Amino acid sequence: RASVGPKYLTGLNPEQREAVESLDGPVLVLAGAGTGKTRVLTTRIAHILSQGRARPGEILSVTFTNKAAREMKHRLGQMLGQAVEGMPWLGTFHSIGGRILRTHAELAQLKSNFTVLDVDDQVRLLKQLLQAENIDDKRWPARMLAGLIDGWKNRGLSPTQVPSGEAAMFANGKGGKLYTSYQERLKILNAADFGDLLLENIRIFREHPDILRQYQQRFKYILVDEYQDTNVAQYLWLRLLSQAPSPKAVIPGRLEEPNPESGDESTARDSTLRDSAMGFDAAHRPGMTEHAAMTVGANAPTKNICCVGDDDQSIYGWRGAEVDNILRFEHDFPGAKVIRLERNYRSTGHILAAASHLIAHNEGRLGKTLRTEDEDGEKVTVTGAWDSEEEARAIGEEIEQIQRMGDKLNEVAILVRASYQMREFEDRFVTLGLPYRVIGGPRFYERAEIRDALAYLRVINSPADDLAFERIVNVPKRGLGDATVQMLHDHARKRRIPLFEAARAVVETDELKPKARGSLREVVTQFDRWRAQREVTAHTDLAQIVLDESGYTEMWQKDRSADAAGRLENLKELVRSMEEFENLQGFLEHIALVMDRDGGSEEDAVSLMTLHSAKGLEFDNVFLPGWEEGLFPSQRTLDEQGRAGLEEERRLAHVGLTRARRRAKLYFATNRRIHGTWSTTIPSRFLDELPAANVEITESKGGSAWGGTGGYGASRFDDMEAFGSSYTTPGWQRAQANRNRGQGGGGGRGSFAEEASSFSSSPDFGGSFGSRR
Ligand code: ATP
Ligand code: MG
Repeated sequence: RASVGPKYLTGLNPEQREAVESLDGPVLVLAGAGTGKTRVLTTRIAHILSQGRARPGEILSVTFTNKAAREMKHRLGQMLGQAVEGMPWLGTFHSIGGRILRTHAELAQLKSNFTVLDVDDQVRLLKQLLQAENIDDKRWPARMLAGLIDGWKNRGLSPTQVPSGEAAMFANGKGGKLYTSYQERLKILNAADFGDLLLENIRIFREHPDILRQYQQRFKYILVDEYQDTNVAQYLWLRLLSQAPSPKAVIPGRLEEPNPESGDESTARDSTLRDSAMGFDAAHRPGMTEHAAMTVGANAPTKNICCVGDDDQSIYGWRGAEVDNILRFEHDFPGAKVIRLERNYRSTGHILAAASHLIAHNEGRLGKTLRTEDEDGEKVTVTGAWDSEEEARAIGEEIEQIQRMGDKLNEVAILVRASYQMREFEDRFVTLGLPYRVIGGPRFYERAEIRDALAYLRVINSPADDLAFERIVNVPKRGLGDATVQMLHDHARKRRIPLFEAARAVVETDELKPKARGSLREVVTQFDRWRAQREVTAHTDLAQIVLDESGYTEMWQKDRSADAAGRLENLKELVRSMEEFENLQGFLEHIALVMDRDGGSEEDAVSLMTLHSAKGLEFDNVFLPGWEEGLFPSQRTLDEQGRAGLEEERRLAHVGLTRARRRAKLYFATNRRIHGTWSTTIPSRFLDELPAANVEITESKGGSAWGGTGGYGASRFDDMEAFGSSYTTPGWQRAQANRNRGQGGGGGRGSFAEEASSFSSSPDFGGSFGSRR
């Protein structure tokens, strides 16, 4: 192919160029990390526009995060100069779904100014419904119901379509009914939750073919990044807009009713979900082919959909993503052109080899070749540290070193598996004066549960801290609602005393109803008691006592939402972090300092984020701490999802490694505090799976993790390919024994916090709809 053509095409390799220039019909770019998939998408938009194939408003481009959408807009601007009038529909599924829903709000019984509920609102609303139904919220927590409803919506299921077995899972069969009344309440409140943004689109498209047709005609080109992480609802939405025929029409084998008891492969189940979500009546199944074709419009003229993805980077299975979507693209979009890209432009040879070798341990994958023409570069390093504090110190030093060599901090990222790991780095960076930003979520001390806990401690430290008092007076719920707080305010203002003292005074009067008065008295008494204890108890113990006695820990223990475990881990980490300070006062002063640091986003700063948030991004230097069994792979994922979970964890490791352009630096700590007690950890099995030739073992300055008398860790690498059999010190035997115990018994290891939803689940939820929390 000649390399003449517009400037934006120069530099593309032939396969990339083909992907950009194949404008007609469905195209799937299935390729590994760093092969230019996202670049192809952006260039394709530029090409469509400059060829005059469509106007900007006729292009729909879906990214996984709002950040990615902004990035794409920026690149597009660079490629095209200022020549473009208007902008493509470029954003996340939710932002675009929301935009469409506002246009047709009345068809979903909403007004166009409807509010989008965040998780907290959602839970509050569900609590009211549970109360109305006389369902015990302790036994059947609202958050659990919120999780179920979310899951149904991710699968495109409206209340009538939820399989009865699943609806029965909640409150003795009331799940479905609650879902229905929840939807009704949302309409009355003129509100939608995140799931509705797509689900209501799907419903409107199905019930109003004229509207669907309007969008089908409008969007001449559809582009989707990170296709491997789409869920069923997103898939359905795309299918409708892209006018492809139903999967029924092309895969007759999928017509049978799946047997729900048989635990059959998920594909059959999924296809039923797809169908029921599409509104296809099961009774019509036999004659499905024609019916489906008519409904979805098999003969529609435009099917210019281009999806790019990588099955090895599917990391959102726990949130309903279906890697299956990418595997069956050719079935779903007949005549699709599948293009593979094999040249990686991002990483050096050693990094790419290490990542490819690691992911080859997964069974469920398509498999692909990746090559780089880049030099080998530096080997991937594996460093053992004595504990997590030393790990943070060592990484801090390495970053300063990198900085001295002239690299920008913007080119440095630390990617963690669990959000609580960030705390140690944040503290370290504040001490070093190293600017950092947290991507994809609040900084550690800004998380809701941490602020709650800090508020308790602040009130103990300073009874006049009204803000703190107000924050927690009714957290957990004690029947001290807005009216009570208002009354305390009046009292406090009149007498010019702090809220806490007002509370002390009010409980001696009969201004409050007996129940509220009792609760408030209990709060006052508790704080008095904690303040007295402060004199005789270590501040870390005091913090634990406060969290337990106040009911705050219990509140999250009872909470069955996906992020509750992560929040509990964060609380543990908070208590742990206090140890580094002499007393409560000193600790709170440090916090004030950390909180005050402004995270100006323009400055040159280290990026700190979870592996989940790192999707699609790249940095010259990537630090990957905490490669230990139980933490990474996460014990919880292994417990809950077994082999599939392990493979998803390994894909996450693969995503982490492939973010690095020039340096990838892995760490593990031989000792980590879990649930308040130190445990000796075992280096992650993923370290074993790295190829010897591409890895270099280094030692952190503390040096204590490797070999020697106290050494665990590296010494277990007897079976690590990187080390042959050179490590056969007694240490490895202990480590090995430890590992077996960890795997077999399972009892000893608590569930580590998942990064999970405490925030990394929310990249898709930001932007124009405000942050999810
Ligand atoms: P991921 O799977 O991680 O999302 P990707 O396949 O989307 O990766 P890109 O982010 O598009 O890959 O590209 C990776 C890097 O390689 C980017 O810095 C991009 O600019 C660069 N790149 C891609 N194609 C080329 C090319 N033909 N010439 C030079 N650089 C390229
Ligand atoms: Mg990409």
